[in-house]
Amino acid sequence: MVEQSTIWQAMDAAHHLHPFVDNGALAREGARMVTRAEGVYIWDAEGRQYLDAFAGLWCVNLGYGRPELAEAAARQMNELPYYNLFFKSSNVPAARLAQTLAELAPAHINHVFFTNSGSEANDTVFRMVRYFWALKGHPDKKVIIGRQNGYHGSTVAGASLGGMKSMHRQGGLPVPGVEHIRQPYWYDEGGDLSQDEFGLLAARALEEKILELGADNVAAFIAEPIQGAGGIIIPPSTYWPEIQRIVQKYDVLLVADEVICGFGRTGEWFGCDYFNIHADLMPIAKGLSSGYLPIGGVMVADHIAETLKQAGEEFSHGFTYSGHPVCAAVALENLRILKEERIIEQVRSQTAPYLQMQLQTLADHPLVGQIRGVGMLAAIELVADKHSRRRYDGNGRVGALCRDLALKQGLILRATGDTMLISPPLTITRDEINILVERAGQALDATQAALESES
Ligand SMILES: *Cc1c(COP(=O)(O)O)cnc(C)c1O
Repeated sequence: MVEQSTIWQAMDAAHHLHPFVDNGALAREGARMVTRAEGVYIWDAEGRQYLDAFAGLWCVNLGYGRPELAEAAARQMNELPYYNLFFKSSNVPAARLAQTLAELAPAHINHVFFTNSGSEANDTVFRMVRYFWALKGHPDKKVIIGRQNGYHGSTVAGASLGGMKSMHRQGGLPVPGVEHIRQPYWYDEGGDLSQDEFGLLAARALEEKILELGADNVAAFIAEPIQGAGGIIIPPSTYWPEIQRIVQKYDVLLVADEVICGFGRTGEWFGCDYFNIHADLMPIAKGLSSGYLPIGGVMVADHIAETLKQAGEEFSHGFTYSGHPVCAAVALENLRILKEERIIEQVRSQTAPYLQMQLQTLADHPLVGQIRGVGMLAAIELVADKHSRRRYDGNGRVGALCRDLALKQGLILRATGDTMLISPPLTITRDEINILVERAGQALDATQAALESES
């Protein structure tokens, strides 16, 4: 087994450039070859088992190994493996999925434009909001405002709308016409303000930016209901109502990027339901198919969909695989299971409160500055000093150390800087939550021990 794993690692190191990794270092180290998965567990080629507290990449909401999804894909493959949606065609799974999504989304959102990913969904947003305003007779309403440390994908438009400095540095981003405001990250940036005061302050940065640019030039504001990749940043309760007031006052479209929050992650169908956000557009992906096949889309509010339908010309945008029938069939089956097994209700009333309560048992650990969470999302802040919230090096070294030590305990966590991120499958049981929290505690202890041995 070990020998086979080494052969695969060598192939990978010789020929495969990976996303979001130092490829030189990875090639020397050898990638972890993940070979199978079941429920909340994955196994590598050397037979080691890990509890995947990250649901792949925030996406395996149903957990691994659901045969119904594999069967839905096989059925559709045999019936119609592919046909495009361009030139006045459609397919049955895409039409059914569009209807199902319209039923699940907030009442004023009844259309979807399909893509293959969250990044493509945000590229679609980029073009759709500008085209919408042009159709409305406001061609100058073009600027899209995002947030520092927001994440909206890795294509040119997605990375531009996002506010990741490391991404902007490579490739000369953002593209013109994108601006960023501060993030509602109270723990790192709130100083002595209360959470509610800070929430208002962070939201009012949007009003300042709109006034600076001129409302006649601003097309949209894009934000994740809860920032995911940025560090599971849960805005104070004052934030979203104030954002809502501002976008309404200045006639700016609100884009709620639901790629992580959608499909049950918060214990509601959408992050917009959790925070009571009235969005004009909702990019979706990830949990839409529980990651079993790639599919995404943009959910479109009625007033925008009607404007597009009345344009009297084509919207010159789309992808070869938009509404791919096999991906749509798998997404439909995923949504059917989420509904019929009442998985989101279970998260909201049972397992998410249990996860959050158990995680709080780690709050007294000397390394831990804060533990916060909503639904099946949680973050653990690692600090050198609990009271001043001072970090160790500020470069993410301690987070990376903790992540690597968690792996040794058989637990997959993600680190953003020195923030440990948890986002397990929605199907995780209480017993599995106990294992998750126990291993997370062991990883914290091991990290603490490693730091002490340095000094
Ligand atoms: C992952 C993510 C994206 C990008 O989705 P991809 O499928 O990786 O292109 C966009 N927005 C948010 C909020 C995400 O978390």
